[in-house]
Formats: sequence, structure tokens, C-alpha cells
Amino acid sequence: MIAEVLLPIPVNQSFDYRLPESQTAVVGQRVLVALGTGKANNTPRQITGIIVAIKETSPYPDASLKPILALLDSFAIVDRAWLDFIQFTARYYAAPLAKLLINALPKHIRSDSPLTLPKLRYYQLTESGISAHKTEILPTRATKQRALLRFLHDQDKIPINEALVREQGFTAHDITTAVDKGYATYTLTSPYHSEENVCSPDYQLTGEQQALLDAITTAPDNKTHLIYGVTGSGKTEIYLQLIEKAINTGQQVLLLIPEISLTPQMLARFHERFGNRVAALHSGLGDKVRADIWLAAMNGDLPILIGTRSAIFTPFQRLGLIIVDEEHDLSYKQQEGIPYHARDLARYRAHQHNIPIVLGSATPSLESLYQVKKGHYQLHQLVTRATQATQPTIHLIDRRGDKQASHAGSSANLPIAEILLQKIRQTLQRQEQALVFLNRRGFSPVMMCRHCDWKSECPTCDAYQTAHTRARQLHCHLCGYICPLPTQCPQCGQRDLIFVGHGTEKLETQLQAQFPHHHVLRLDRDKQTTTNQLHAALEQIHNGDAHLIVGTQLIVKGHHFPNVTTVCVVDSDQALFSSDFRAEERLLQQLTQVAGRAGRESQQSHVYIQTTLPTHPVFAALQQQDYLTYANNLLAEREKYELPPHHAITIVKASALDAAPLMQFLRDVKALIDDNSQALTTLGPAPSPIERLKNRFQAQLFISAPSRMALQRELPLIEKAITHLDKSRRFRAVIDVDAMEN
Ligand SMILES: [Zn+2]
Ligand SMILES: [Zn+2]
Repeated sequence: MIAEVLLPIPVNQSFDYRLPESQTAVVGQRVLVALGTGKANNTPRQITGIIVAIKETSPYPDASLKPILALLDSFAIVDRAWLDFIQFTARYYAAPLAKLLINALPKHIRSDSPLTLPKLRYYQLTESGISAHKTEILPTRATKQRALLRFLHDQDKIPINEALVREQGFTAHDITTAVDKGYATYTLTSPYHSEENVCSPDYQLTGEQQALLDAITTAPDNKTHLIYGVTGSGKTEIYLQLIEKAINTGQQVLLLIPEISLTPQMLARFHERFGNRVAALHSGLGDKVRADIWLAAMNGDLPILIGTRSAIFTPFQRLGLIIVDEEHDLSYKQQEGIPYHARDLARYRAHQHNIPIVLGSATPSLESLYQVKKGHYQLHQLVTRATQATQPTIHLIDRRGDKQASHAGSSANLPIAEILLQKIRQTLQRQEQALVFLNRRGFSPVMMCRHCDWKSECPTCDAYQTAHTRARQLHCHLCGYICPLPTQCPQCGQRDLIFVGHGTEKLETQLQAQFPHHHVLRLDRDKQTTTNQLHAALEQIHNGDAHLIVGTQLIVKGHHFPNVTTVCVVDSDQALFSSDFRAEERLLQQLTQVAGRAGRESQQSHVYIQTTLPTHPVFAALQQQDYLTYANNLLAEREKYELPPHHAITIVKASALDAAPLMQFLRDVKALIDDNSQALTTLGPAPSPIERLKNRFQAQLFISAPSRMALQRELPLIEKAITHLDKSRRFRAVIDVDAMEN
């Protein structure tokens, strides 16, 4: 027999190997094979691959086929459906299959170490153990053994796992002694296994929640549901109940969330409800644990997997439901490497398995609303908050007279209006919390010399280096270039350097000076660099230790701060000057999410937005809390300009040391596409928004098609044009299918 094997090497094909007569293998099993000719300059190396097909014959001559060196495990690590999914993904994103495999498979599984299915020992008493316990036959000095028998007997014949026995203070030695004496026995069972069905606590659903739950559970299996639920409307409880229904019928569930380290409360809720049936995939896990989760999911042992975007590549034996929380979130799109979108792939997987998928958001993406319009998704709304809390009132602070105000006022140079400082003061006096949102980290975005106009430009990018005064560094947030903070001007030598503009670090210092008797807490990626620090900071907000919180978008995502009653948005205008056609949608989503942090308990809460464009319609939409109407208006506008989601776009992004040959290359790609395709429209090429990054010029070619299907049909043409025109790959061109940033 012949085994067709997929290898994680940059060659876009599978390879045929001879399967020894004595061995039977299945699709999805890992094998060890030799690669290379074995000639002097090309020693064959051993590599781990996956069997994708088993067949009688090969198109290659028998003599040229090498044997499989070893079957690494006795079971498959992926199945047919998974292989189809991965092949679809590679085709859809014009990505090399091998690169995708490396992206998808946990490192431990790509190695050649043998794998074992994760199992725990579950103990129970034998007949002889039961009678030994009842007749108290053991000597009184054998206290530990007697206690162990009593403990196991009290479990009512339900096998109990090793970890729980150890938690009771019994040692491994105590347990093996009982087994050796024949009093106890064990079975090997999955660590995610639980004997009983999940039973929801007596949770009173609102009428709206109940109706939604009924609508989803009675809909046909292959439906895509979009839940538009305002913050605080109880989406999570809907997820919990849907998951409970699925796992009680033996199905597995995949829940995707944007960022796992930011949502300890949500994870805790899942663990509380489902106990050991849940595994969470996050960056803090070791290679072995990742592999264990993979195998448990593949083997059908893991009921619930919660993870960020890469969890979409996990294989499941009985996948019955996919949920994508905060479906609008940009972190579902991978920007580096293979630019896939996990939400879109989730929809494909649901379709492939013929199972329901639920997308949820307080600010649904235009992509999803478009699918609702076309009748492909079913829209459900949760518009009332589940608690007594009312929606916050949104106020605009007109900053057009900004400069004069800050010079006249006592708090000169603070980027916050005097009236807002008063509001914060009153909030703190009422012993409530206030939150100040500024999406710019560091002390100040630019450092400048007043004498010669020198500015802190990054030497390798078209960007300014941000000043971080605590760390005493200038830091380029684009390329990571770091140098010491200058004390005198690097150009003219004068000591006349100033910090221009505000970052969270400067704001924290200034607000602490304004409110010396209150605890000002800064929340951003510079201050909290580890998950533990982040959780500690969130805890300080929850227990009331922090009074005034200054933060970047880190504070926006999914948190629930019950005592925050005042929210200030320092600067929202930048987005409205952006060249990205999605900027307005993003701003609306971001501000709606920021506003959603406020007043999720019973107090009345207020959100203050500073702007120099107070008449912009996006603010009126925010004040009326009418996300859907405004989003639908944006959708109509996109249609007029033939932009996504009405049209499909892809961007060819390339870079080179010199601008001229790079632009010529993209012009040639454009010419080839224009000559050979009716369906595609090209625009550009043009320099990228960030023209120079790490000393390389960046440019892009914008390609649009009337639909995703049309784009997919023509994708091979784009690929061919690129490989034909850049054989040596000096322009490092990538095709960003369904690009989300331009
Ligand atoms: Zn100077
Ligand atoms: Zn840089």
C-alpha cells in the first residue's frame, strides 16, 4: 500500500511513501519519513508528517518510493474533515499548505516524540475494599488507609480522579498501597470527563433572553445566528445555556473569544458552571499541554474548548456548536504570516459539520450585518440590560476652543477639560470610580527640540518614537526600535527638549497630581506586561482599591466594572481623519464598547467624549445609542462606493529596500491582472500608510472583485502574477485576502 504524506516543509504538495506490508495505517496518523535524495551533498533528514490518503498505487515508479520509517502513534491526530478544512483554508487565503500546517499544529505534535492521550486515574473501592471498610478489618494504627477507604466509600461508587484524592491529603503511596492490597482499583479516563450532566443554577432568564434561546434552539442545525446584545444584556448566560444543551447530548463546543488574558471573570464563570469539562487555550500553556488539549478534542474527550483565534484549527470528533464572542473584534484577523480570519473560518467549519454557529457582539461588524441583510444570518436582539442598570448618558465636550482653555485654566496642559475634572472629582467624592480612556501608550508621542525643531523620528520607519519617561527610553511602536531618552538635543546639543502630546503615562502622572488623595491606576501594555499583573490590576479595580483608571483599549474589551459611573474619552478625533474606509465603523464600535463599561449596576452613569468635531454624525448615533441604524447607513455608503462587504477586496502588500523597483514590480503585477481578468479591478499601486518600516519601503496594490466568489476564482491569477514577476522573492509580496486594514 502507498501512503500519501503531508510534510511541514515549504513545498506545496504531498509525497508518496511505501507502507510496509506488516503495518496498517489510517488517514490522520503521524509518520516518520526520510526526506532528500541521500546523495553526498543532500543527507536525508527524518521528518514528521501526516498521512492524508492511503491508496493502492502511486503515479511514481515503485523503485523511487521510500518506505515509511515508523508510525509514531497508534491513533490519528486529525481526521478527514480537518484535512478538508485545512486545505480549504490554504486555498481560500492563497497560503502554502505547509506554512498553514506549521501554524495550526502544536509544536509538540510536529515533533517526533510519541504522543499519549491525556488520561487520569479514577479510583473506586473493590468488593474487598467495601467489606474491609464495613467490617473495620484494618488495624487502628493504619489511620491513613482507613481514612482513604472511608473517603472512597463515601463517593457512592462514583470513580474519583487522582487529583481529587490527593487534594484530600492522601499521598501517591497511600493510594498505591490500597491498590496493591486489592482494596481499590482504577480506570484510566479523560481529565475532562464528568459523570453527571450539567445542571444550570436556577437562573431567571429575562423574557427577551428566553425568547432568544428558544429561537436558536428550535432553528435548523445549519443556521448562522447573530446576537446583537447591548453590553450588560446577558449574552454570556445565553452562551452558557446553549453550551449546556449541546454537551448534555454528547456534543463538543468551541467558543472563540478575542483575548483570553483580559477576561478572567468570563473564564471563571465557565469553570464554575462546567467544572473540569472546559479547557482554555492560551499563550501561557506549555507545548505538552497544548498537545494534550488537541488530542482530547480530537478524541471526543474534551466537551468545551475556549480559545483565541488559533483555536479554530483544533480538530473535534463531535463538534456540535461554535460560538464567536465579540465577533467584530479585529484580533480574529491574523495580520502577520497567513492573514486568516477566524470568524470567517468558523463559519466555514460550522457549514462543513452542518452545525449551528452563534456570533455575538454589542457592535456587530458590517460584514455580519450585510449577511443578515442578504438573509444568510438570523439576527437576534437583546436590547435591555439584564440587571436594573440603565444605559449611560453620553455627553459631548466641544474642544474646538481647546488651546485658549488650557492656557487660561489652572490645569494648563492637561488634555482634559476643566468641567470634566470637576465631574471626576465629584465621582470620586461619591466613592464611585472614574475611567479615562486614551488609546496611546507611553509618556508622549513625540519629543521635540524647541531650539532647532528636531523631532524624535524613528531611524528606520516613517514614525515618531514615543517617549517613555519611566523606562527612560524612546520607543518606536511600529518596529520596536529602542534608544535611551536624550537629555539634550541630538542635533544641536541644546537642553531645550519638550514632550509633545499625551500618552497614558503622562496622563497618569498629571491626574495623580490633580487627585493626590486617590489611587490612580494605569492599565496598558507597558504597565502590565504579564497576565498575572493584568489580573492583579483588574482585581484592584473590582475591589475598589483603584479609584481613577487611566487606560488604553486594554480596558475596553469585555470587562465589567460595576462601580465605574463616569467615563471620559480624551481624544476620539484621530480616527475620523484616517484614510482607512473602516475608520468610522471602528470608532463607533470602540466608543460604544468604552461607553458599555460604565454603569453596569444600578447607578446612573455618564460618558463624556471630547472632540473638535462635535457635529459629526457618529456622535449623534452614539448619543441616541442607535448602533444598528448608523451601521446600516455605513453599509449603504459602502455599497455606493463598491467597498466591502458588498465587494470583496484583497491587497497585495510588498516591500523592498528601494522604492522605485518596488513600485515597478507592483505596476507589472497590476498590468498582468488587468490584461487577464475581467472580474478584478485594480487600484494603485501606492505607498502603504506607513511608507517605511524597518528600513524597507512598503507599498500595496488594491484589488477588488464584485463578490468573494469572484475573487476566489481569480486568486490563482494573482498568485501566478506574483511568482512570475518575483522569482527571487525580493519584494516579499503577500496576498491579504479580505484585508481588514488598508
Ligand atoms: Zn535642537
Ligand atoms: Zn521604527
